[in-house]
Amino acid sequence: MARKKFYIEKPEVESSENYQVKVAKYMRLSRMDGDNLESDSISNQRRLLNNYILENDEFLYSDEFIDDDWTGTNFQRPSFQRMLKEIQKGNINCIIIKDLSRFGRNYIEAGKYLEEILPKYNCRIVSIIDDIDTEKDKNSITGLMVRIKNLIHDNNSRETSIKVRHIHDMLRLQGKNISPAPFGYIKDPSDKYKLIIDEEAAIVVQMIFDMYISGIGTIRIANKLNELGIVTRIEYRKTKSLYKQEGFCYSQNGWRPDAISAILSNKTYKGSLDQKRSTTRNYKDREKICLQEKDHIIVDNTHEPIITPDVFEKIQTIKNTRCVKTSRNRIKLYPLSGVLKCADCGSPLIRNQTTKRGKLYVYYKCRTYNQQGCKFCNHSHSIKEESVLAILSITLNSQIRTLINLKKIVLEINKTKQIQRMSIDYDRLIRQKQIRKETLKSTKLDAYMDWKSGDITKEDYLYMCKKFNTNESKLEIEITSLQAEKQIEQDIRNNDFLWLETLINHGTLNKLTNEIIISFVEKIEVKKDKDIKIIFKYQNQFDRLANYVQNHAYKLTVAGGA
Ligand SMILES: [Zn+2]
Repeated sequence: MARKKFYIEKPEVESSENYQVKVAKYMRLSRMDGDNLESDSISNQRRLLNNYILENDEFLYSDEFIDDDWTGTNFQRPSFQRMLKEIQKGNINCIIIKDLSRFGRNYIEAGKYLEEILPKYNCRIVSIIDDIDTEKDKNSITGLMVRIKNLIHDNNSRETSIKVRHIHDMLRLQGKNISPAPFGYIKDPSDKYKLIIDEEAAIVVQMIFDMYISGIGTIRIANKLNELGIVTRIEYRKTKSLYKQEGFCYSQNGWRPDAISAILSNKTYKGSLDQKRSTTRNYKDREKICLQEKDHIIVDNTHEPIITPDVFEKIQTIKNTRCVKTSRNRIKLYPLSGVLKCADCGSPLIRNQTTKRGKLYVYYKCRTYNQQGCKFCNHSHSIKEESVLAILSITLNSQIRTLINLKKIVLEINKTKQIQRMSIDYDRLIRQKQIRKETLKSTKLDAYMDWKSGDITKEDYLYMCKKFNTNESKLEIEITSLQAEKQIEQDIRNNDFLWLETLINHGTLNKLTNEIIISFVEKIEVKKDKDIKIIFKYQNQFDRLANYVQNHAYKLTVAGGA
């Protein structure tokens, strides 16, 4: 079969003499991706690239772009993006890399850059280890080889990430510290997994525990440390000096009560390691998820304690009882206790009251603003208690009315669906649609291969792609709605409408108590302009129910009208 020409619009490289190859060296290293820190080190990459440039005198060296400790699973890396801008400006027309995994470890995105974006700017790519030079072999990038290589790099990234996780857990279980050293400790220069006491900072830690045990609260401790001019852990690591120094610009504004509280409950100080307190979903999505204490990896006696375990435990007891005591001492909770949050900084709003001309005004304002000033939250977010309660009363009552109506409709739908419902096998339906989606995907890949091997034209391929994509998103929507329906059926079967009953049973609300508000409301965000956003509990259940009604109410009228 004769190979057709490729369809990507790539102007021929000018053959004029003043055409210059302006080369960018691109280097990347990521511990996260499990790169070989020795052979993939930046200095090794640089040496290899420099040699290559020296041997080829056509190259005019232009610039160096390094992403040190940036993963290849996406392309949002500062130096890569900067390089792209230079390419777009025409300052660079050739990228040299050690191997393709330096370029990226995400098959789809890498393909986008290699096959679309870079050819568009007539940018040549040289991958030394892979022996690819798009100038020497114009098909090398669009060719299958790169595709497969990229694919392998993608898999590789997934595997190394799992391996790294596994190794980390092994280390944690062995009582080796793989987190940054907390305030009061440094990493042992002869064993990076071991903590040793930093005598100077340890005195401050000791001081914090002593103050707390003698009855001083976390706010006053923080203030005291700030008065003494003692810097925080981050500043201390930067300046190596425990005390504030003249003329140095500090990015953090001193100690905060929550930092003190964190120190007081940090098990490191009694000689234990409490690790794996959070995790990430997978190697592409690096969003942090906090783990419950039962899932932490805790090992005792791993290093020298600053606080004896006895004293540490005593402090924990005091900490717990002090919290209970304050809430017990309070005669009653205010209606809005624990519900209002600052929309800008996320901290709770605290209650204040003042008397003006004999009248009592109760209002709430942002705790950060109140305690730390406008540098940390730029507005007081102050709002009157009675305004919030008035809005809340109207909203909750209308919410209850909606729920009562919703319940009526659901019961009616269920009556007509009773027989039919038992016969629907949602799992089978969903599975069928998923299989169709998978088939569609592989057909799409086949079409791509057909295009690349010249069996079909680019136009045909694009047309087919469009059709596949439409069908795919249609299937996607169908699957989602089936899943929602399945969930609601399950709710009905499991009688999981307790939440609805509880809320409805409140009846019409006349006076809002904290108990009532908390049963409805997750939180209320207060914005600068005194606008509020109420986030309800059971929002998902409510949405599902509303969807269910919407889907079936239509069928109900049709059935009724026939
Ligand atoms: Zn705030």
